[in-house]
Amino acid sequence: MGGFGSAIAQSHASMIELETAIDRILALVRCVGVERLRLAEAHGRYLSGTLISEVDLPAFDNSAMDGFAVRAGDVSQASRENPVLLKLIGRVAAGETPATPVSVGTCVRVFTGSPLPEGSDAVVMQEDTQSEGQAKGCVAVLDCVRPWENIRFRAEDVRLGGQVADAGDLVTPGKIALLAAVGFGEIMVGRQPVLGIIATGSELCLAGEPLSPGQIYESNRFALAALSQRCGVKPRVYPIVPDNLVAIKAALSIAIAECDVVVTAGGVSVGEFDFVKSAFAELGGELDFWRVAIKPGKPFAFGRCDGKLLFGLPGNPVSAFVTFLTLVRPALLRMQGARDVDLPVRHGILVEPLLNHGDRRHFVRVQIDSRGEVRSAGTQASHLLKSLSLANGLVDLAPGAALSTGGPVRVGVWD
Ligand code: AMP
Ligand code: MG
Repeated sequence: MGGFGSAIAQSHASMIELETAIDRILALVRCVGVERLRLAEAHGRYLSGTLISEVDLPAFDNSAMDGFAVRAGDVSQASRENPVLLKLIGRVAAGETPATPVSVGTCVRVFTGSPLPEGSDAVVMQEDTQSEGQAKGCVAVLDCVRPWENIRFRAEDVRLGGQVADAGDLVTPGKIALLAAVGFGEIMVGRQPVLGIIATGSELCLAGEPLSPGQIYESNRFALAALSQRCGVKPRVYPIVPDNLVAIKAALSIAIAECDVVVTAGGVSVGEFDFVKSAFAELGGELDFWRVAIKPGKPFAFGRCDGKLLFGLPGNPVSAFVTFLTLVRPALLRMQGARDVDLPVRHGILVEPLLNHGDRRHFVRVQIDSRGEVRSAGTQASHLLKSLSLANGLVDLAPGAALSTGGPVRVGVWD
């Protein structure tokens, strides 16, 4: 078990690729557990197992319309000029069971969702009938219907024994609708991890307090808490920690004990006040890697301590934000049992060129609008928050890449 010290020595020379970093992180991620929830409370969670329907959906053949259940053969020649008279022999509301079967020359009043009476094989829409002015107890049918027209079939949606959801699926409103419709009152889903969020830096001041000379307002904890809530995590935000090895060790050990996973922001680079890696090593933490070949965000540390994962994010606010989205988010989702952990991609068209003159892969913050038009969100330096506040996505630009106006572009979106 190497501490941070030895691992840093090995990894100093080279940065690892983003995909390698993600693979190494996901290889160590474990699901934090499962819990049974009432369906209504499970929105946004991830299913922990395959769900098999114990019913047919629909459960019985039923009417798709308000109208009359008929035998299609009786009305095959019906038209407005040549109405066919049928004897009305009963009525079935939705929720009732049909009492009388439909025999030749008869019909039964039905409504959307009414079980189909035995003997009938089609429903004539109410709009294609005329009840007033007919012989007593009769309905005139003014249009023909094909056999099985306006009927919703038993099990056409889901068959008893059929799979309705898979392990790792996100519980979306549509999935909730289906699971409710096949009668699942409760489901097993991944537990939501508690994420400890620590900001280090002696210059940091809490928003709302007066600033002393040289101090800046702290922003990373706010951004990281909001981002973590977006991916179903419960943030536990700790007080600002000064650049001091003892203080950082104390804060880290509390967070590691209290949380499922911990992120720190700041103090993870090569400056003489960057104590996060040493603090982690002194607590017995094991560094897996340090430095990823992306911009913004090169200084990024990942390791484990007492079975808990630690992500050491850079302090520059945009770097912290981007490394959270690219490297921490996948782990947080996988801890809840999610299968798909990539940022959702939207395909857009550039309305201005995007260039990467650098030698590192650049995640450029952009705006993609509802029409799919993509533009830079503004100046890209990693301390500039105005452009971050205007951005809703990232474009992954390879070193030397030059994307032209009008060209297609993939945007990983978070808002
Ligand atoms: P560091 O990674 O600690 O070297 O910090 C890099 C830059 O980010 C410095 O300008 C810090 O002042 C700034 N910074 C670090 N942490 C935060 C934070 N939590 N909120 C706002 N700015 C920060
Ligand atoms: Mg610092």
